[in-house]
This record gives sequence, structure tokens and C-alpha cells, in this order.
Amino acid sequence: MTPERYAKILRVLSKRQPTLTVLMDEVNKPHNLSAIVRTCDAVGVLQAHAVPPRGGKLAAFDGHTFEATSGSAHKWVPVQRHDHTVQAVQALQAQGFQVLATHLSQRSVDYRELDYTRPTCVLLGAEKWGVSDEAADAADHNIIIPMFGMVQSLNVSVAAATILFEAQRQRLAAGLYDAPQLTPDELRRWAFEWAYPDLAPEYRARGETYPELDDHGQILSA
Ligand code: SAM
Repeated sequence: MTPERYAKILRVLSKRQPTLTVLMDEVNKPHNLSAIVRTCDAVGVLQAHAVPPRGGKLAAFDGHTFEATSGSAHKWVPVQRHDHTVQAVQALQAQGFQVLATHLSQRSVDYRELDYTRPTCVLLGAEKWGVSDEAADAADHNIIIPMFGMVQSLNVSVAAATILFEAQRQRLAAGLYDAPQLTPDELRRWAFEWAYPDLAPEYRARGETYPELDDHGQILSA
């Protein structure tokens, strides 16, 4: 760990937005998943959520394949797995997130009408069937990116980027990138995990807290 690398880790973590996330509802193409995670990293999403696709196409979520297809972004944005979309929506709502389902329906509102400075989860659907009606019903709002072309929908990763960068625009204007959104304890924990990805699991397995790091990212002996 060089001091420069550690300084970059702290800089990036100080912009992370723990109150902004996505839930990928059976997004089944690894390159789409990969592109979404990369956008999450760019916008400052701390961690993402996903329900793996049905029917055995779990390749994108198998550790090795996911790593192979998502470049390095997956290292900086862990994807938490859920088994059921509606339950995941409810769990996120219980944590205080408004869930915005991207849904190509008449009742959906223009995505720019919503307030993304609130704790927000954007629910995204699979290429073929989109977000299920049950999940759309469970969400707080249904949103749409207005389309004026011959084609009905965008690629899911393009839709995700469009919406997440609107969230970033609103959050920048509200000053949410000006001060760390993580508590000092959370920041220390994430910094250790990013700086020492091989050591962190060993500490967790032993049930030990991470050691302190000095200003240059070196481990301080106890
Ligand atoms: N046939 C699907 C449907 O009716 O929902 C199309 C799915 S679309 C190819 C894949 C995903 O991209 C959608 O579930 C949604 O998450 C997102 N998406 C694509 N175009 C969108 C738009 N105009 N507004 C909002 N989300 C969109």
C-alpha cells in the first residue's frame, strides 16, 4: 500500500453515498451487470443489490465469472444478493430507502420528477421481461425515461446510468458530496477493506476488529 493509493482510497470513500443504491431484478446479461456496477462506482454508490436471474443463468453472479466480466469495479462496489425481489424491496424500504421502479407503464412518472437526495434505491429489470408487476407495485414510485423513438426501451445499463447521473446531479447541488456520508467508523472499516482486501476476511473470520492504519495506510501494530 503506497501513501498515494491510500490517499485515493480515502478520497473516493469520502464521496461514497450510502443512501443511494440499485436493485437489479434478474438482470441476466453479465456485460449489463458489469456496466451498471461500473456506473455505480462512478456515481459513488457504496453497495449494490441484485436478485440473480432464474433458470440457472447465474454465471454473472458466480464469483469468478462476475470478476472476469466487470473489470475492477466490482472490487469497489460489492453486490449483495437477495432471493426474492419483493422481499428485497421491502427490506430496503424498512431501512428507509424509497424504491423507484423503472417501469415502462402509463402510471410511471418522468424520472426527473423525483427527489434523489432522499435515501433512494433504483430498481432495474431484465432485458426481456423488465421489472415484475409485483415488484413495481411494491415500489414507492414507478419512473420512466421518456422515449420518443421507434424503439420502446433503452438498454438497462444505459437506463441505469441516465437515472444515477440525475441522482448525482441532484446530490451535488445539495452538497452531499462535500462531506463524507459515512461515519468515521464506517470510513475506517471500508478503508481497511479496500486497502487490505486479502487481510480483511481473515480478521472477520477470527471475529476481530480491523487494526488501525496510520495516515499513510500502514497497519499500526497493537
Ligand atoms: N420488455 C421490457 C419491459 O417491458 O419492461 C423491456 C425491458 S428494458 C430492455 C430493460 C430494463 O431497462 C427495464 O426493466 C428498465 O429497468 C430499464 N429501462 C429501459 N428503458 C427504460 C426507460 N425508458 N425508462 C425507464 N427504465 C428503462
